[in-house]
Parts: sequence; C-alpha cells; structure tokens
Amino acid sequence: MDRTAARRAEPATGRLRPETALADLFGVGAARGRAVAEEGFETAEDLLSHAPARYEDRSRFACLEDLRALPAGSRATLRVRIVSARLVRTRRRGFTILQAQVTDGVDTAPVVWFNQPYLGRHLSPERELILYGAWSDEVRGGGLRNPELELVPATAGPDAAVHTGRIVPVYRRLGPLTPRQIRRLMHDILEALPEDFVDPLPPALLAAAGLPGRLAALRATHFPSPGTPLADLMAWRTPAQRRLIYEEFLLLALAFDMKRAERAVSTRGIAYEIPDPLRVRLREMLPFRLTPGQLEALRAIGQDLRSPAPMARLLQGDVGCGKTVVALLTMLVAVENGFQAALMAPTEVLAEQHLLGLRRLLEPAGVAIGLLSGSGRAPERRRIKEQLATGELKLVVGTHALIQEDVHFARLGLVVIDEQHRFGVAQRVLLSRKGSHPDVLVMTATPIPRSLALAEYGDLDYVEIRDRPPGRRPVRTLVRPESIRPRVLEYLCREVGRGRQAFIVYPLVAETEKLDLAAAQEAWEELAHGPLRGLPVGLLHGRLPSAEKEAAMAAFAAGRTAVLVATTVIEVGVDVPNATLLVIEHAERFGLAQLHQLRGRVGRGPHRSLCVLLHGPHPSAEAARRLEVLARTHDGFEIARADLALRGPGELLGLRQHGPLDLRLADLVRDEEFLERARADAARLMAAGLPGPLAQAARRRWGRRIGLLAAG
Ligand code: ADP
Ligand code: MG
Repeated sequence: MDRTAARRAEPATGRLRPETALADLFGVGAARGRAVAEEGFETAEDLLSHAPARYEDRSRFACLEDLRALPAGSRATLRVRIVSARLVRTRRRGFTILQAQVTDGVDTAPVVWFNQPYLGRHLSPERELILYGAWSDEVRGGGLRNPELELVPATAGPDAAVHTGRIVPVYRRLGPLTPRQIRRLMHDILEALPEDFVDPLPPALLAAAGLPGRLAALRATHFPSPGTPLADLMAWRTPAQRRLIYEEFLLLALAFDMKRAERAVSTRGIAYEIPDPLRVRLREMLPFRLTPGQLEALRAIGQDLRSPAPMARLLQGDVGCGKTVVALLTMLVAVENGFQAALMAPTEVLAEQHLLGLRRLLEPAGVAIGLLSGSGRAPERRRIKEQLATGELKLVVGTHALIQEDVHFARLGLVVIDEQHRFGVAQRVLLSRKGSHPDVLVMTATPIPRSLALAEYGDLDYVEIRDRPPGRRPVRTLVRPESIRPRVLEYLCREVGRGRQAFIVYPLVAETEKLDLAAAQEAWEELAHGPLRGLPVGLLHGRLPSAEKEAAMAAFAAGRTAVLVATTVIEVGVDVPNATLLVIEHAERFGLAQLHQLRGRVGRGPHRSLCVLLHGPHPSAEAARRLEVLARTHDGFEIARADLALRGPGELLGLRQHGPLDLRLADLVRDEEFLERARADAARLMAAGLPGPLAQAARRRWGRRIGLLAAG
C-alpha cells in the first residue's frame, strides 16, 4: 500500500462520485472490489458508512517511558524506529515469534508479535512505524506484545497529512482492504464529494436537534477536526457522530413504518369471526382463569384477527407468564373459522415440548394436533403431510421441517413462530407463503430488550404480558463452586424428606450432544447409587424416545419420582408446582436466557424455592458476570438488557457475523436513546406526509432487508 499511496500524489477527485463502484477506485480493483462488496460495501457512498472502530490522536505520540507509566492494559500510540528485528521459529509447528527492538529516540524496548510472520517484511532497520498497544510485562524485560502496526509515510508526501499529524480513524479491515487503505480511500472520497451532496434529512429536523448536515457530519466523523475530545469520539457522542447514528435509526424506523403502512391498507388477509359463544367456549376449556395481561394480549390479537389486513404481531412476556396459552387460543380461533394453524419452533426439543403442552390443554376439547420434525419416522411424517394437504389435520407443531418444499397446507390461516430469536425473516416468510396472507404471531421464549425488539421486529405490532399467573414466587438463587455439591445434595435429601421435589440439570451443548447425554446418564447412575440412594430418581433427555420422555415427565409430575436428572429438555413446559429445588451443573456453560428459562421451572407452588448454580473451577469473567446477573434479578426484561450489553445484538439473536439488521454506525446498546427519538420522529413524519428524498433513502438503505414492496 505504501507504494500505491505514494503514486496517488493526485487523487482522482474529479471522477469520483457517491455512486462510483469501489472496484473502480484507484488501488482497489475488481478482485478486491468483489471481496469488499461481499461485506456489503459496493459504492463510494457505502464505504462512508464503515464506522471507525476507534480513533488515535497522532498529533501527539506517546514515548516508551509514557507507555510504561500508564496503568496496566492502557493503550497508547507511539512513533518508533526499528533498531533490529528477527523471526524466530519455535519448535511448535507453525508457531512463530517476530522479535524487534525499537527506539523512540530516547529509550529502546522489545516488541514481539506472535504468529504474524508476514509483518517481518516491514521491519527493516531504520524503518519508522506507528505502534498502538499496551506495555506488557510478559515480554521479557518489559515491552510491547502484538501491538497494531502502521508504516509512517514519507514526511512530506500527501499521505503524511492523512495518516499522521491529526486525529486519525482506525477501521476494521474490510476483506483485503487494510485499515490504512480504507483511511486513504475514505479521505479521497470525502474530498471528492460535491458540497451539495444530498442530505435526506429535512433541515428543520436537523435544526431542531442541533445536528450538522450530512457531508459535514461524515467529514468530522471520519477525520475529526483538531481538538475534538478523544473521549467524545470514542463514546460516539460528537455532534457529527450523533447525526449519523440518528440518521441510520431514522431511516430504519421509517422503513418499518412504511412496511406497516403497506400492510395496513391490504385487505387480502383473513377477517376472522370471533362470536361470543366461541370466546366463552375457549375460555371454559382452560383449567384456570386468564391473567389481565393475557386478556390484554388476546384483545390486541383479537382485533388483528378480525381485521382483513394480515396480522403481524410480536408477543413478549417473561418466562412462565403464559404465552403458550395465548398462542393456543389464537390457533383455535383459526381452526373454528375453518382454517389450519401451524406453530414453528427452532429446535426439535422445543417443538416436542410445545406439542406436550398443547396436547395437555387440547385434550378436553378433543382437537388433534400433529408434530412435523426432521427426525420423525418416515411413514408418520408422510401421514402428517398428507393430512395437512387434505386439510384433515388442523393443528400442527414443527421445526424447520414445516417450511420444506413438499409441505402443503389445504388452508393455512395462522402461523405462530416461537422465535427463540433463532429464525430469520426469510423463514417466517417461507412459512407464511404456504397460506394466502395468513395471520402471523411471533413469540419470544424469554424477553428480548426493547431496543432489540424495535430494531429486529420494528415492523410488527407489539404486545407484552407483564403479569404472571397467581402463586408464583421469586426463587432464591445462589452461585456456588461445584466443590460444595455434597452439601447441596444433603439439602436436596432434606427437601425430599419434607415431601418436595428437585431437578438436577446438565448442560447440553449442540456440538457435543452425545457426550453431554452420556454425562447426564452417568451422573444419574452415580447419584441414584450414591448420594441419592433410596430416592426415586428419574432421567430425562432429548434422545429418549417420545414415549419414554412423556413417561419420565409424567412420573415426576405425579410425584412418583422425587428427583429428575435432566438435560435442558426441561427448559420449557415442565410444570410441577411441588418442585422447589433446581440444581444446575456447569452453570457457566449456559446462556443467560437459558438459565432464566430453566429457573422458571421452580417457584410455581406455595413453597419457597431455591436455585443453585454450580460452576466449574475457573469460570470466564463473562460467565461470572452472567451468573451474577441471575443471582441479582428475576426480571426477564432486565436480564435481557444485561444479556444484550454482555453479548451484543448479533450474539443474542444467534447471528454471529453481523448485528441483526446490520447496523453500521449505530449501536443498540450504546445508542438506545436515539432509537426512541428516531421512532417518534418517524411516526410524526409519516403522519405529516413523508418527504420524497427521505422515503427514497429509507427504501434504499433498508428496503430489501425489511421486504418493502418496490425495495430500492
Ligand atoms: P411461557 O410464557 O413461558 O411460554 P407457558 O405458556 O408455558 O409460559 O405457561 C407456564 C405455565 O403456566 C403453564 O403450565 C400454563 O399452563 C400455566 N398458566 C398459563 N396461564 C395461566 C393462568 N392464567 N393461570 C394459571 N396458570 C397458567
Ligand atoms: Mg413458552
């Protein structure tokens, strides 16, 4: 890049326009252009939404002595010269250490890079470098370990002004483009943009919020003016940065509102009838009275069902608040109107649990419900598919198997998706397409934070159940090392002696499912023959045949077994009010939502309940924080917020690569307040009539992702 940079003494400003393909820019080329396009950046303007990962103040450099004096772990930027460097190959195959000696003109210090032998070619003696890193005592004699490195451009060239002598942006790599190449490109693009570069946000809106115009904001975000406080930049709170965050959220909120508007005018959905006798009959079917929260949710859903516009609604509520019942009643309305209803869950275990729960409630009504999953026996699967195609079977629960091409419904009128945050929009749409504009209800198993719900499901109407069935009590939660297990088991025996029941849960991690099952089985045998000898101990795991699973659950529910050793199969749906103790082994291996879901298995009866989270010897810092959160609170919505802060939206929704909606500049945790404001402003703008450029911008940025008609 150094050479390329030197050659580009006169940037190709004249030709560069916002819509110019990156591949056409000097120094990028077709191959790299393709790779960068794969990351979602195709044009010059796209690249402007690649946010700096951080900023460095290169108007002043730290010296080695400064760095040494900083608190452990603090990073700083240094400008140094190479004294010597050599590559050391170690005996471990493929493991390399690059050792250098650098000087800042006063002191010298060692620098080591592990497994980055390719850096070696930059490290000839006398070469000048910019390093960004922390002082480490792990380097012999003290020095820098794996610092980030950039070459210093010739002091007089045009590059010097881009990469040094100012606050510079440092970017995450984009495919083959290095942070430094991106900085150069960004600089050229910003120079080349016309001063009248389009700003879709109305001036009045900007003035009211005290935010700068688009071009000014982009320039000041990528190349902050001297004197901009570094702390503000890092926190993304300069006016320029706030403007860009706000813009991204506003366009998102507008796109969602446009989607809703499209749906609201549609009359192609089903207008269900819910006569009073049906309502009464459904309610009488239940063995309990609905809570006010459930009634409220049903009222909202009822309105959607009656309307000819297809329902698209998200139902949220804490673990155990009774969402399944709400889903079931909704499904029955569809059936009573002569339609079929399908519930899709992300895993087989969950689908089976829904089936059990629904069957229990449906038995009195005598309505049949089928299960369609990937692992059912072939003849059984064929039979279910036939019955769905003929319309003989009205209710079905299933996994992804439901969206296979060979599944046809005679008259699918309602789709319920137990999101578990794991299905994408595409899968929701696939299932819906098996009917003709069916109503869609999306549920989450444990709450997801409001900001994430808005960003991921902003086009859905929203209803939340805030209360719980009567008689639920908070569960005391203890976090303890596994070494105290014997004492926990003693306590367990005493509880059983008092007539109570207990769960002992083992983690089941998908990749090692077999091993974990073996562990649960082994633990069960050891417990049953050891510390819990004489007690009736049951075993429940996902690999048991359905009949055995049901038998194990039934035995526990009836009190014939006092202790149930289980994998996370019990996560949902097991309802035994007499169970007062939940022991979770290897709690550090579970996610927050899962632990919260598991904890919901106790505290369902009149007796005080206890949850003990046992952890291995050295839980990671993050795991320790997770367990702490759980010990501190019972509120699923609060737990969800903590989870979001700990893991980020992508992880939380199970999408590792990008955030759920691929937000580029905004951050759901950091910038939640902007999202709220953007939503309010979007609603106002929609009501007043959306200005054309704004609608266009929203369509271009989010149309495809959100599925707007005529997406840009
Ligand atoms: P979740 O919202 O976690 O899916 P479920 O729908 O599984 O919760 O309900 C949890 C348990 O509470 C179930 O056993 C269900 O039968 C029971 N339940 C639901 N609603 C009520 C209610 N209004 N009164 C009493 N029990 C209820
Ligand atoms: Mg549920």
